[in-house]
Amino acid sequence: MKVCEIECKSLVTKSKLPDADYVINPYVGCCHGCLYCYAQFMCRFTGHTGEAWGSFMDIKRGGTIPKNLKEKTVLFGSVTDPYNPLEKRYETTRDILTRLKEQNTGANIEILTKSPLVLRDLDILKTFPNIRVGISLSTMDERFARLSEVHAATPQARIQTVKTLHDNGIPVYVFISPIFPYLSDWKSVASAVLDIADNVCFENLNLRANYKKDVLELVRKEYPEIYPEFSALYADKKKLRKYWEEMTCEIEDFMKDRTHTIYFFHEEIKK
Ligand code: SF4
Repeated sequence: MKVCEIECKSLVTKSKLPDADYVINPYVGCCHGCLYCYAQFMCRFTGHTGEAWGSFMDIKRGGTIPKNLKEKTVLFGSVTDPYNPLEKRYETTRDILTRLKEQNTGANIEILTKSPLVLRDLDILKTFPNIRVGISLSTMDERFARLSEVHAATPQARIQTVKTLHDNGIPVYVFISPIFPYLSDWKSVASAVLDIADNVCFENLNLRANYKKDVLELVRKEYPEIYPEFSALYADKKKLRKYWEEMTCEIEDFMKDRTHTIYFFHEEIKK
């Protein structure tokens, strides 16, 4: 993997995401190697055209942070994992958190990760009055996780991370994303975290052009029994919409009065 340190101008970028005013991505690229990573489009915008997503990492150095972010939500990790394996050595995310703390910006901090490495920073996380950590977890199936999120932590390690955050008083949500039709055991994930997560969020799998082929190939090769239904669903927009609508009802029914958020049809909301 090609690793570079780069000087950056501004660390904080305005966001169009529904729940974040700003985003901070301490790294360009991500070495977790998720097959479905929507952030792959970043190759074009960061001088990495033609390079494979996951084959490079730029470590951001410097960069300004606005003085006042009062009541603004700042999300770490919209197009990278702020606790990817390089963070262990470079501590970029930790440095930025320290600077935010020292500058006393008043921001609401949100961190989204797949990694137990976030626990290293419990000391600093605890000092923010408004913070929440999201752990992405799409399946409890170790084999499926290994195939689809090649270098990320195992599902069990992530569940343990949720528990430790919860036990340390850090508000934590679990982001069940992306849900693969006919494959993802979202009920198992939700059941495993119901008593330790403050919120459980659900997001469907969108097959974007830059990874559609790879996802279909994985399902065809590893799960041939569901491939015909899976591929037919993504070839028919009406059928696909109906599928997610039915799943929405199923989730509502399953979660009942437990706090949850459904981000299906996310694409349409953003437009
Ligand atoms: S952890 Fe997130 S940013 Fe990293 S490869 Fe996976 S989906 Fe992409």
